[in-house]
Amino acid sequence: MSVSSGPLVFDTQALGRRPGTEKTYTRTIEAPTGLGLDVFGVPEGSPIELELRLEAVMDGVLATGTASAHAVGECVRCLDDVEEDLDVDFQELYLYDDPGEDELALEGDLLDLEPVLTDAVVLALPHNPLCDPECPGLCPECGARLADDPDHTHGEAIDPRWATLTRLTEQTEE
Ligand SMILES: [Zn+2]
Ligand SMILES: [Zn+2]
Repeated sequence: MSVSSGPLVFDTQALGRRPGTEKTYTRTIEAPTGLGLDVFGVPEGSPIELELRLEAVMDGVLATGTASAHAVGECVRCLDDVEEDLDVDFQELYLYDDPGEDELALEGDLLDLEPVLTDAVVLALPHNPLCDPECPGLCPECGARLADDPDHTHGEAIDPRWATLTRLTEQTEE
């Protein structure tokens, strides 16, 4: 891993490794790639409001902050869009040297916040996003979204193999 610059890289040189010295930042940054899960995440380039306090402690620099972002995804039942405002808190110690497993270290004076932000956002995201907790999902026969059309029926049962084919065709046409 190597960092040089970027909106999530902070130079801690001004803290001078003096315990108790701190610096705060308020920034709006563009979301990096991969912020979230496949089904739900923060779109790359969308704004993230970041509040960060960097504080020198004995062994390193403690990064404490909050990030506010807008996540989008799909309902796992009906595939409708789901959006959610996220406010995540994080706190992580960046060691001056010799990080162990699952520990982070500064690179020189540079602190790369991206892995911490990514973990915090992923933890905050619902793993099974739903447009509504009661979402009835899709009609198993025709793929219609049942929340839009809860009472629709099919005169004759369609052979399930054809229903699958119909769904595939509809997806292709979108
Ligand atoms: Zn839904
Ligand atoms: Zn149907």
